[in-house]
Amino acid sequence: MVAGWGEAHHGIAAQDVLALLEADRDRGLGEDEAARRLGAFGRNALPDAPGPGVVMRILLQFHHPLVYVLLAAAAITLLLGEVVDCAVIMGVVLVNAAVGFVQERKAEAALQGLRSMVRTRARVVRDGAAELIDSEEVVPGDLVLLEAGDRAAADLRIVRCAELAMDESALTGESVPAQKEDLTLPVETIVADRRNMIFAGTLVTAGTGTGVVVATGEHTELGEIHRLVGAGELLATPLTRKLARFSRDLTVVILALAAATFGAGWLHGQDLGDTFTAAVALAVGAIPEGLPAAITIVMAIGVTRMARRGAVIRRLPAAETLGSTTVICSDKTGTLTENQMTVHAIWVPEIGELAVSGAGYAADRGSIEVAGGLEAHLGRDGALRWSILVAAACNDAGLHEEEGRWSAVGDPTEAALLVVAAKAGLHQRHVKERYPRVATIAFDSRRQYMATLHVAAERDASHVVLAKGAAERIVSLCAAQLEPDGTLAALDTDAIEAAVASLSQRGLRVLATAVLTDVAPSRFSEEALEGSLVFTGLHGMWDPPRVAAVDAVRACRTAGIDVKMITGDHAETAWAVARRVGLVDDAQDGDAVLTGPELARLDPDSRGDAVARATVLARVSPEQKLRLVESLQARGHVVAMTGDGVNDAPALRHADIGIAMGRIGTEVAKDAADVVLTDDNFATIEAAVEEGRGIFDNLTKFITWTLPTNLAEGLVILIAILLGTALPIQPTQILWINMTTAVALGLMLAFEPKERGIMTRPPRDPRQALLTPTLMARIVLVSAILVGGSWWLFEWEVANGASLAEARTVAANLFVAVEAFYLLNCRSLEGSVWRIGLLSNPWVVVGIAVQACAQALFTYLPVMNRVFGTVPIGGEAWVRILAVGALASLVVGAEKWIRARARRAAPPVP
Ligand code: ATP
Repeated sequence: MVAGWGEAHHGIAAQDVLALLEADRDRGLGEDEAARRLGAFGRNALPDAPGPGVVMRILLQFHHPLVYVLLAAAAITLLLGEVVDCAVIMGVVLVNAAVGFVQERKAEAALQGLRSMVRTRARVVRDGAAELIDSEEVVPGDLVLLEAGDRAAADLRIVRCAELAMDESALTGESVPAQKEDLTLPVETIVADRRNMIFAGTLVTAGTGTGVVVATGEHTELGEIHRLVGAGELLATPLTRKLARFSRDLTVVILALAAATFGAGWLHGQDLGDTFTAAVALAVGAIPEGLPAAITIVMAIGVTRMARRGAVIRRLPAAETLGSTTVICSDKTGTLTENQMTVHAIWVPEIGELAVSGAGYAADRGSIEVAGGLEAHLGRDGALRWSILVAAACNDAGLHEEEGRWSAVGDPTEAALLVVAAKAGLHQRHVKERYPRVATIAFDSRRQYMATLHVAAERDASHVVLAKGAAERIVSLCAAQLEPDGTLAALDTDAIEAAVASLSQRGLRVLATAVLTDVAPSRFSEEALEGSLVFTGLHGMWDPPRVAAVDAVRACRTAGIDVKMITGDHAETAWAVARRVGLVDDAQDGDAVLTGPELARLDPDSRGDAVARATVLARVSPEQKLRLVESLQARGHVVAMTGDGVNDAPALRHADIGIAMGRIGTEVAKDAADVVLTDDNFATIEAAVEEGRGIFDNLTKFITWTLPTNLAEGLVILIAILLGTALPIQPTQILWINMTTAVALGLMLAFEPKERGIMTRPPRDPRQALLTPTLMARIVLVSAILVGGSWWLFEWEVANGASLAEARTVAANLFVAVEAFYLLNCRSLEGSVWRIGLLSNPWVVVGIAVQACAQALFTYLPVMNRVFGTVPIGGEAWVRILAVGALASLVVGAEKWIRARARRAAPPVP
């Protein structure tokens, strides 16, 4: 908002808004003035969402069924006069809340940090020149330029616009794009109807526009909503929700069991206080307290790892889904290739192919080789001269040179054309003077060409149309071709097609050029151009495949993931590039390539098969991308789809994982995507899939590790009550075991590096349960060892004259020992810990050392003895404890080994 001024900008004419904001309609603000305003109004950013306050967040930590159970237990133990027990239970509740609070804050901070990695930029006019700035630097009075795909950085009053449509769903919830116009509205018009305003955070779906900034940061309409809504649910994913439901159900079951235990004890005529204590022990023992914290932490670590490798997760469920991806549909240009185009060859009628030397954007190094000399050709009014003129003038890119280093802004395809024109001596700035442009039909992937209308100063100020685009499309617009000497001839489509094929087969992207001289400006429309242009030539440009893509494609294949190339480019070009990155080889049959037009002709039934078989899908329109996603999903695939344009948004939204390009992608695409690649690189997708699998593995490892303890604790208590014997471990001891081991031992699995074979196994079926029958069997096995081991040691101690307290101390330490040894097994779900390296996760070693110290205190420190009812035990007892622990680890190791042998003997059917 601007000081000293009202808010009804929609009720004032555009020029008056400009005057009030002291902004020039064409020159925008001056740099100095913009800097001053930035100081005065602050950065154009929203403050952190308020969300629940610290006190509320702490209170929320107690809002779990498990904690209610514990609090009730604490209250009743207090009533029964068991002050120490009550204090321990309360201690656990508080420690649990503190750990939960700290971890949640850390995880949220990590995810929030990721959001800022995807920066948005804004195009503003400053001192009369358009420039790209960080959207946080936009100030009131700035003139902002918008085109399809952009996101508005601030609230704007429209100054001028053409066919501008905005997606305002972020603000109004209305998904139909709103048409915008420059008009003055009644002051009372509501926000949703302010057709002359553009609001921060909304997206341009079509057209272009210029607006003057009237509000930034928290003063925008979005800022208002942001304040009202606060922070969303950040850490929930389908899996976490499923697990939350699981623990709620578990709590109910456990409470019922605890009640049954209490009832059994009562019927046996046991002491009510003791029976109640036992029921509490069962309840607290059987609930996996560490699980929610572990999930949050594993997710946060995994997502941070992905970001470090260039894949920023925008929606958390994607982190999970990535691990199950079965098909990746990738763009060609920029993802599998570098998007660094260089024209290598030009083809003109009657002359044939001309080689172009030089590499990259260096316009001063390289030339066009033509018999008879280039000068002579350019001197005539023939096809070569006009084709190069089209390259230079029908072009929106820009070339810059600084100290011999050349760089380009805009579309790399167009930059390559500027370079080849410059190599022929035709520089953009001269062309702009001699052929000023008066109108444009912009390129879009559906239209497949671009045309511009110019005034030709040297041709008596008559008008000329210059056009370039996909070869088939341009040829379809042409009625004739230009000869080397400037005469018109009949279109030789056979020769052109042969030339296109020859260039494409070498992996060159082909653009055709065409012209129309002496036209009436009123005839510059899409319809009027059909069938009236004159063909002038072809440009073949080379875009080197990304080196990393070759390995990444191979890795995906090994991991059972199908990779498909979806491109707007020519089938032959796409095929040649696909061959270079290892997607296809020459032995493959014709089914491996499918074009958009072929796809359109197929009936819905055979479409699915054809898509599934094809590896290269060429000349595909963005609309068809959506259909591709649907037909692959209908076959049960989990589809990751890349995209960058406005029209890609529906496909990105529909795919299981929509992936947008961070560099070349539009804001609309990024908004629709679940993942944004900071480097646009295909190899990053593969890396993200690998990390996604890692997240799942580590979660599964934690669950496989924690459940046996809970199961065994519950069973030990249940059996003791049913048999009417003394409890081998007490409730307070159980709490100690669960809390300390979850933090010191279990959480260390979150830092587990990915296993070596992670990309050699097939994708996980997302419908598959987290725990496979193998893992369930292992959980039962370890529980049995825990129950048997603790019972045996407890009885042995008692039989050999130890006190009840001593025997219980031994049993409690046994639980921890088995957990520590079993933790090593859990570092790999299938392989042996020796194979992955005992020290490859140093955190596990640190955790075990910390737990060992904690157990020493638990056993020998007098105050702990009083609190937990433990007593010091002798060295021999420790030997027995450690022996059972080691035995448990050996048994699990043997179980894995036997399974591995069985697997090798009978490999799974692919
Ligand atoms: P990919 O999907 O692999 O990223 P792409 O998106 O670059 O490919 P399109 O942009 O749809 O594919 O281009 C399709 C065809 O349109 C190209 O083969 C080319 O012949 C032509 N073309 C591309 N860019 C332009 C442009 N700026 N002006 C005119 N024609 C173009």
